[in-house]
Amino acid sequence: GGRCGPRPGKGAEGPASAPSCYRCIECNREARELYRDYSHGVLKITICKSCQKPVDKYIEYDPVIILINAILCKAQAYRHILFNTKINIHGKLCVFCLLCEAYLRWWQLQDSSQSTAPDDLIRYTREWDFYRMFAIASLEQTAFFIGIFAFLWLERPRTAKKKPNFFLLLKALLLSSYGKLLLIPAVIWEHDYTPLCLKLIKVFVLTSNSQAIRVILNINRMVSLLAVLSGSLLESAMVYFFQRVEWDVSSDCAIYKSQDL
Ligand SMILES: [Zn+2]
Repeated sequence: GGRCGPRPGKGAEGPASAPSCYRCIECNREARELYRDYSHGVLKITICKSCQKPVDKYIEYDPVIILINAILCKAQAYRHILFNTKINIHGKLCVFCLLCEAYLRWWQLQDSSQSTAPDDLIRYTREWDFYRMFAIASLEQTAFFIGIFAFLWLERPRTAKKKPNFFLLLKALLLSSYGKLLLIPAVIWEHDYTPLCLKLIKVFVLTSNSQAIRVILNINRMVSLLAVLSGSLLESAMVYFFQRVEWDVSSDCAIYKSQDL
């Protein structure tokens, strides 16, 4: 299934644009164009010189199909989104995901604390709690990224064939964290199963992150998985640190710990 003809204006700008800025989604080879525009609107998809397959078959596909392929963690779909489109929503997506996370923690905090203070004070405290949760979620996210970058920097002699583009990697990590948007529906609709759902969402986000790293740096699965794990490790260390300084951090780890007991 899919739409007929490439979708111009979504990344593909023809042969006139900068050379070798696209990638073959099958073999990761650089390509100069995704399709060629012959006269009178006759378009032909470029065939990769290296693998003899279309450089990017997804330019013909419907965005929903591409999203489904991305959810299935297909490397081809990741390459299409990260290299061959100029998608530019990572900043907004990051803020929105952090808001989801802050809301979830804040919601759990409300659930656990029953206060008898006056209404005004409660409202003020709750608002302040939300900002605090947002700040903590941001710090943990930062720790996660620092962990990943530190690991990749240490591993760079073995993994990097070329100088890695860390800006592109950050963008890929932010985009591939889109699974966090599921936090809110999980909280709203799955009351009894929430802890399990949260764990599954976490696994999904980490898998997507790992796949994004693998695609951007063109490294093997094991290294990208280790990078994500070291990010998680630093994030957990951060959570532990917050708990030590006795902030009431209701982060994922803290929730799981209290529910396991
Ligand atoms: Zn190819």
